[in-house]
Amino acid sequence: MNLAYWLERAGRSHPDWPATACGARVVRSYGALAGRVARLAGALRGTFGLQTGDRVAIVAKNSPEYLEMLYAVWHAGLAAVPANAKLHGAELGYILEHSDARVCFASAPLDAKIAPHAPKSLERLIVVGSRDFETLFAADPVDVTARGADDLAWLFYTSGTTGRPKGAMLTHRNLIQLSHAYLAEVDPTQPGDPILHAAPMSHGSGLYIMPHVMRLGANVIAESGGFEPQEIFDVVRHWPRLSMFAAPTMVKRLVESPADCIAENFRTIVWGGAPMYFEDAVRALERFGPRLVQIYGQGESPMTITTLSRQDIAARDHPRWRERLLSAGRPFACLEVKVTDAQGRALPAEETGEILCRGDVVMPGYWNNPQATAASLKDGWLHTGDIGAFDADGYLTLKDRSKDLIISGGSNIYPREVEEVLLRHPAVREVSVIGRPDREWGEVVVAYVVGEAAAKDLDALCLSAIARFKRPKDYVFIEALPKNNYGKILKTELRALDAKKGAGS
Ligand code: AMP
Repeated sequence: MNLAYWLERAGRSHPDWPATACGARVVRSYGALAGRVARLAGALRGTFGLQTGDRVAIVAKNSPEYLEMLYAVWHAGLAAVPANAKLHGAELGYILEHSDARVCFASAPLDAKIAPHAPKSLERLIVVGSRDFETLFAADPVDVTARGADDLAWLFYTSGTTGRPKGAMLTHRNLIQLSHAYLAEVDPTQPGDPILHAAPMSHGSGLYIMPHVMRLGANVIAESGGFEPQEIFDVVRHWPRLSMFAAPTMVKRLVESPADCIAENFRTIVWGGAPMYFEDAVRALERFGPRLVQIYGQGESPMTITTLSRQDIAARDHPRWRERLLSAGRPFACLEVKVTDAQGRALPAEETGEILCRGDVVMPGYWNNPQATAASLKDGWLHTGDIGAFDADGYLTLKDRSKDLIISGGSNIYPREVEEVLLRHPAVREVSVIGRPDREWGEVVVAYVVGEAAAKDLDALCLSAIARFKRPKDYVFIEALPKNNYGKILKTELRALDAKKGAGS
């Protein structure tokens, strides 16, 4: 079935309920949104002559129009290619070319960034909100195009911390499964419960649009389109029972903000996409109460591999609370998860290996990339590239990505473990631990620290908490850590920086 039916259904049954909003202001009701979507779909088919299955790129900041474009694409039987608005023009050009998109919607001024890199295959570049854009809504509305569950709905280009981005093919089935999983295990929403899209809709937050359309919730965007804690808290005041997805760095900013917040108005704050350090999770719990849920996923199994429930996060009296807070929770019910050795054999609890998963939420492959597909999907099992271990209770703890693992003198050292210890120092704001190639040890541990702590105090802290061989041999103090557009620390860049530093000294 086509995901677009959920919006059509909402438009018929609850035409007056708010569907999109900017801050406190409702922009479109479900009736108005469904009407505009059917007309924009008519323009994509009629005016532009797009055929079922064609790709349409969306390069836009978060906006109420995002839903109009996304749903019109599905309504018309096409596939959406939402791309991160913060990418470089050349990177966007690559995605447009690789996906073979015939039409691209771009919010100003991103069109100017794209134009010089637009591939020949791109027939139209339409600026969101322009006169050309508005004219499209004069087209005759069309019915929803029937689509099969295995048809492509969303080409999800991975954030690409290394190499060229790959397009994970997400089908209607994947997105329907993801929505059910979200509603059952992350955030059991009531009809009309709103969601704030604070993270990019092209990535994490966009995947939460579908379950909220299914449950008739308002999709709210902050007026500035940015992420300012004060503004977020204002939105929270206007929209009781608000949920939000946020990367750990965003949650940290909310926790540290001196601005007032009606924490009770939050229904759920979902964090994921990167590790949240223990101390940060505890502070978030203290500030927002039992409203936090963690998810672990990746573009290839969109936001859905494991989840740590709000009850587990808040259960301070549980004897294994600390371990659980450091874990990514239990597998979602809609898929199987296992940890395997290098030969693909399932490992028992407490043993560390690669995390694999299989189920209806997992992508069928990468777009036009059979090699990458064969490398990551074997017998239906997705090889996540993440390293972790289950405990005896079935909770999965993520270690680090295999390429971030440090092997020093033959011993495995997981950077996250060292980072957790260093972050306990009050003057350490951020830290990232990497391996530096070393003739004697193979690699040595190096900590890049943002903050004013003294190296000898950090060393003492490590000696008090972890094995001697794990402690950093060098501390490098730095203004800021290299991060990608989603706020993930780029260890590859940090290693390159470290190598350059070594070469220069
Ligand atoms: P992306 O496909 O860009 O969303 O990146 C997915 C990767 O982010 C995963 O493979 C993990 O390495 C990491 N990740 C996602 N969720 C979590 C989490 N809850 N804790 C730690 N790392 C995570």
